Amino acid sequence: MPSPMPALFVGHGTPMNTLERNVNSNAWRRIAADLPRPEAILAISAHWSIPGLAVTAMDRPATLHDFRGFPRELFEFRYPAPGDPALAERVQALLAPLPVASDLEWGLDHGTWSVLAHLYPGADIPVVHLSLDSTRPPAWHAELARHLGPLRDEGVLLLGSGNVVHNLRRMDLAHPECALDWAARFSARVREALVAADLDALVDFVSEENPDEDARLAIPTPEHYLPLLYIAAQRREGEDIRLFNDRVEYGSIGMLCCRMG
Ligand code: ZN
Repeated sequence: MPSPMPALFVGHGTPMNTLERNVNSNAWRRIAADLPRPEAILAISAHWSIPGLAVTAMDRPATLHDFRGFPRELFEFRYPAPGDPALAERVQALLAPLPVASDLEWGLDHGTWSVLAHLYPGADIPVVHLSLDSTRPPAWHAELARHLGPLRDEGVLLLGSGNVVHNLRRMDLAHPECALDWAARFSARVREALVAADLDALVDFVSEENPDEDARLAIPTPEHYLPLLYIAAQRREGEDIRLFNDRVEYGSIGMLCCRMG
């Protein structure tokens, strides 16, 4: 039996990474160069957090420009990867009996295409999005993620896109290289929990009951953190983890990426 497809979490940061060749995007390109070519990609993005589960089921997902205040060039960017309705059905079957709506309205959001623009610039691998159900607690997401594991044996790349530290209010736009103390501390704790395969700790960081001040600052809202749980939950016994872009930029945006398997 071939090795399972690795699973990947990417810290996406600013959408400008789409257009730039920088320390982030260069690392994404190196990651992809070292991956087996996937049959398809199932993306879990911070930017599709809705009340309920849905999976994109269209043949041709649109490129969504779900942001404001960026240059026209970014609004003109297109990532014309095909969809994969059969993969959408497979996801629905794996998550049954939970209802997963077939979505024909969403598309590819920038959490996904800003990263895929570098991982697979040819846009020739089908991409399906699974929503983040905003009504559910963190432990539920970690458990749901386990049901997606068989896709790794079917050549599907599970791609989580978010940021382990994401506090837009504390950003220091004048200093891209700056890491606030609490942001660097929290990112290091996430890294340690990932390396130790401590999924419970990763869930606890984002739990509402967690009194930890660093975690509260790093994760003021859960949507950028939760995609990490979907990937962390994929780690199998004895599997390697590799970390990339282990840094904080603009004070409060954690760029850490990890590859399982
Ligand atoms: Zn984002």
